[in-house]
Amino acid sequence: MKYKQNLHTHSIYCDGKNAPEETVKRALELGFNSIGFSGHSPTSYSDAYHFDKTEEYKKEIYRLKEKYRGIIDVYCGLEFDMYSGVDTTGYEYLIGAMHYLKLGEDYVGFDRSAEVVKKVIDERFGGDGLKFAKEYYAQLSNLSEYGKFDIVGHFDLITKNIEKANLFDVNSKEYKKYAIDALNVLAEKFDVFEVNTGAIARGYRTTPYPAPFILKEMKSLGSKLIITSDCHDKNYLDCQFKETEQYVKSYGFNEIYYFDNGQFKPCKI
Ligand SMILES: [Zn+2]
Ligand SMILES: [Zn+2]
Repeated sequence: MKYKQNLHTHSIYCDGKNAPEETVKRALELGFNSIGFSGHSPTSYSDAYHFDKTEEYKKEIYRLKEKYRGIIDVYCGLEFDMYSGVDTTGYEYLIGAMHYLKLGEDYVGFDRSAEVVKKVIDERFGGDGLKFAKEYYAQLSNLSEYGKFDIVGHFDLITKNIEKANLFDVNSKEYKKYAIDALNVLAEKFDVFEVNTGAIARGYRTTPYPAPFILKEMKSLGSKLIITSDCHDKNYLDCQFKETEQYVKSYGFNEIYYFDNGQFKPCKI
C-alpha cells in the first residue's frame, strides 16, 4: 500500500490494550503516513467497551497530533454505536457501527462470544438465527437516521463467530437477501465502507468483514473501500493488510481509499 493508514484504532481510553502514543510509534515503525483513532462511543445501556473519558481521549489524541505533526498525521475519530446518541463535536471523522440490537426496551449486545450470541438467539429469537440476522440488517438499514457517518463499520459484524459456531446459514438465500437489501439502502447514504480484519487479529475469523457476496455488491454499487484492522493491540496494527488488498482486488476493486485531512482519496492497489 503506497499510503499506509489505519482509521479504526482503539486504545486504553476504551477497550484497547495500548496508550495511543504507543500505537503511533508502532505506526511509524510500520511506515504508516497516518493513523486515526476511533474510540468506542460511550453508551447509556452498556459499559462493555469501557469508554467514559471522552474529553481526556480527545485531549490526548490532539496532543499527539501536534507532537507528531510533520512526522505522521494523527486523526481523532470515533466509532459511534448507532444508538449511543453521543455528542460528536471535536472528532475529525466518524465510523458508524452497530454493536447492540434494540429489542423492546432492551439493548442487546451481540459483538460477543458464540455462546452469548447463541443465548441471544435462543432467548430473543426462539432459536432461529436467521430471524436474528434479519433483525440486525433491518436495524442497520436505519443507520443514516442516527448521524452523518464518514465510514460504515464492519457491515456484517454478526458473522463474527460464524466459522466456529453454526448460528445461522450464511449461504442461505434468505441471509444473503437481508444483507444485500440493507447494503442497497446504506449505499444510497454512505460512500465509504470498511474492510475490517479485526476478528482475524483476535482469533475469531480467518477472513475479513465483509463476505465476498457483499463485496461484489459493493463493487456493483460503486462503494468506496478502506482497509482497517479494528486495532485493539498495536502488534496487530496492520493485520493482514497485504492479504486483504489481494482479497478486495479479486472482487474487482483496483483502488482503496484513505483519509487525508477530511477527504477520502483513492490509492491504486
Ligand atoms: Zn466495532
Ligand atoms: Zn472497533
